[in-house]
Amino acid sequence: MRRRMRDRYRRFSYLTDIQGMKTALAEMRGLFFPPQPRLNHEAYRRRTVDPPDEGWFTEAVTNAVTMHAENAMEYPFLGEPVFEKPLVGFACGDDPIFERFKEVIGPFHFTPYEIMRWQALNNGVEPPEPSDVSVVAFVMPLTANTIRDNAACTEWPSERWAQARLIGEMFSQVMVREIVAALMERGILAVAPDATPFFRKQRYPKTGWASPWSHRHVAYAAGLGTFGMHDFLITEKGSAHRLGSFVVNLRLKPNRPRPEDIHAHCLHYRGIPCLRCALRCPAGAITKDGGHDKEACSKRVARSLAYCNRKYHIFIYGCGLCATGVPCEHEIPLPDKGTGP
Ligand code: SF4
Ligand code: SF4
Repeated sequence: MRRRMRDRYRRFSYLTDIQGMKTALAEMRGLFFPPQPRLNHEAYRRRTVDPPDEGWFTEAVTNAVTMHAENAMEYPFLGEPVFEKPLVGFACGDDPIFERFKEVIGPFHFTPYEIMRWQALNNGVEPPEPSDVSVVAFVMPLTANTIRDNAACTEWPSERWAQARLIGEMFSQVMVREIVAALMERGILAVAPDATPFFRKQRYPKTGWASPWSHRHVAYAAGLGTFGMHDFLITEKGSAHRLGSFVVNLRLKPNRPRPEDIHAHCLHYRGIPCLRCALRCPAGAITKDGGHDKEACSKRVARSLAYCNRKYHIFIYGCGLCATGVPCEHEIPLPDKGTGP
């Protein structure tokens, strides 16, 4: 009898992780988002008094990540945070790079102005000028434990990695929503594009799987890192992280220089033999000539759902093997880290 129960639990264990299912559906299909925070119109009318600046946002995001009770792993990793201290960067809403993203990613990708316009009209106020809009982007590095565990895997993600993906997604939604709600209460229009009704991942003929707001591209725009051969963003804290961003009706100054070369930090693109990420990929989705094959990667990642479900009893998919056990996992690699495959 107990064996039958155990087998049934293993086969249907995903039913025990309702929150995980909701999170995955939110990430893929834009479902289950709570209602948008409403603008405090009274505060909006007198909003010119002491508006938050770059320092305020850096502190708000840093405090949220380092002190929030929900930045916490669950059993069997109780007591560990999901993320370390974040990096924070800013981009101007009228930066021409956002129009370029429409060419590179697709016309469906929002500019900060477009998403802010929606939020303004949604709250019955005049949309601000693009130059009065900014993006706050941030990098939340995964812990050394999570990176170490995943680096030891060769086929599927480690339990820490899988759990950090699931809880990290939920945490990111909560903490951005808290900051956006606090700004709206102060009369400052703000919006998290990945929590709006338009957000959903879709397969496009030219781009493959993409969403209308790419945190990676936005983080690049804000000078937080550049793309690696594996398509993760290589930042000064490496490529094992979670990215987030939101849009505000304020003029914030970019605080980080953005390399023109979108691959500036990747050893391979710097002409230094590496491609360790290609060796790490169990799906052969990274090759010297073909770069990162998004289709092969997403197929492999989709298959990881069954593995994580069966092994770890959580409803999440993930992989990240190419972002761990590689020279760019913790930092922007120095030339002497390149060894070549
Ligand atoms: S492992 Fe090497 S080639 Fe791959 S992204 Fe990192 S630095 Fe670039
Ligand atoms: S995420 Fe996994 S499947 Fe995708 S490229 Fe990296 S190692 Fe390969």
